[in-house]
Amino acid sequence: MSEQQLPMPDRMGTETLDVDLAIEKLGALAQPVAECEEVELGAALGRVAAEDVAAPIDLPPFDASAMDGYAVRSAGLDREGAKRLRIVGRSAAGHPFHDSVGAGEAVRIFTGAVLPTGADAVLLQEDARVVQDVRAAQDARVARDAVETSVPIRADQHVRRRGHDVRQGATLFEKGKRLGAFDLAWMAACGIRSLQVRRRIRVAVLSTGDELAAPGEELAPGQIYDSNRLALKSLLQQKAVRVEDLGCIADDPAEIRKALRDAAAQADLIACSGGVSVGDADYVKAVVEEIGSLDFWRVALKPGKPLAVGRIGRALFFGLPGNPVSTIVTYLLFVAPTVDRLSGTSPSPPLALPAVLLDAVRHSKGRREYMRGIMRAEGGKIVVRITGDQGSNRLATFANANCLVVVASDVGDLFPGDATQVIPLPGIASHPMLAAP
Ligand code: AMP
Ligand code: MG
Repeated sequence: MSEQQLPMPDRMGTETLDVDLAIEKLGALAQPVAECEEVELGAALGRVAAEDVAAPIDLPPFDASAMDGYAVRSAGLDREGAKRLRIVGRSAAGHPFHDSVGAGEAVRIFTGAVLPTGADAVLLQEDARVVQDVRAAQDARVARDAVETSVPIRADQHVRRRGHDVRQGATLFEKGKRLGAFDLAWMAACGIRSLQVRRRIRVAVLSTGDELAAPGEELAPGQIYDSNRLALKSLLQQKAVRVEDLGCIADDPAEIRKALRDAAAQADLIACSGGVSVGDADYVKAVVEEIGSLDFWRVALKPGKPLAVGRIGRALFFGLPGNPVSTIVTYLLFVAPTVDRLSGTSPSPPLALPAVLLDAVRHSKGRREYMRGIMRAEGGKIVVRITGDQGSNRLATFANANCLVVVASDVGDLFPGDATQVIPLPGIASHPMLAAP
């Protein structure tokens, strides 16, 4: 999908930035925090590694069996034909066999147990039949077992070689990795107890609007409940940041000034919703221009056009449009990748998948639109429905949504059967919209 890359003049005669240009500008604004700290593995979920992490041991640490069966020496056994091997011992997980396995011998072995010295292969128990070894019984006057098979046994079969997951000294991952469950599991498997991570960035979250009440309060005439703060705080929880909730601020320049100064004094990033449009009570932008500076305002985006980005002191400022859907979409597109950059990690590119639209979509050119959709696989393709009327006030559009449907700015109305792109929603906060420029 080609899109206009140049800033476009809008009705007000000021510049409206293309979405990708806005993301690119943001990339240049966000400098990672430098401070680091040591954390235990159990507290490292979501944190960003501040050092390359190498495996301190071979993994697995010893040659092990991958299956239940019999550890044997494969030399001479790799053809079809009857074989009989005397069982000389047992190796279970955590309980190695301390002798070695010779030709014509087998050791009963279980998954994860040490492969005894002398053995180089495992005969599956499904391929083996246990019999009484009569000669052994005559010799020792004790019945000894043997195992019989006719399948060929080849060197290395069902064996996990020492270090085949990762070799001691090899890099598990490089610094700048945001640590997920898989990373923590891998480090734990290597016996790592703690590591250096970047400090959590501090994000101040606040809402502005005279009409806002807290959930649980009685609504006075004209009031609505504040949903943006909780939306932002919940989305931010996926990022291992420290959230400072600065509450709801009235549409009053003095109060907004004080709140934003407070926020800038304690936060690396300020996420403030409401008051950045062009209404009479929209003071936020003017206050930021007064106590800080604006880098850009307005993006060719639906929902979320009046996004304002700037700086107050050392904090990056995001003025998110107040409509609940606009707040969420602009968070996902702009705030989430900036949080990543400040935290010292590169945002992953979005997973934009080709899909076939099942609904008709009205779209006027000039702004890229992110609709909420429900996608599913059908006949080897992804098909997607739009979640009803896409009003930016309608949180209902997210109710069963599992993706955002991207409609490029230079595309007009779309029809059932048209090609489009979808970005899966659950992952979108961790796969923000663009890789580092
Ligand atoms: P604004 O961006 O301040 O012009 O607000 C745009 C729309 O979003 C208005 O209908 C506001 O009432 C609504 N709105 C603003 N802030 C919030 C909020 N925190 N929670 C829910 N709705 C909001
Ligand atoms: Mg407002």
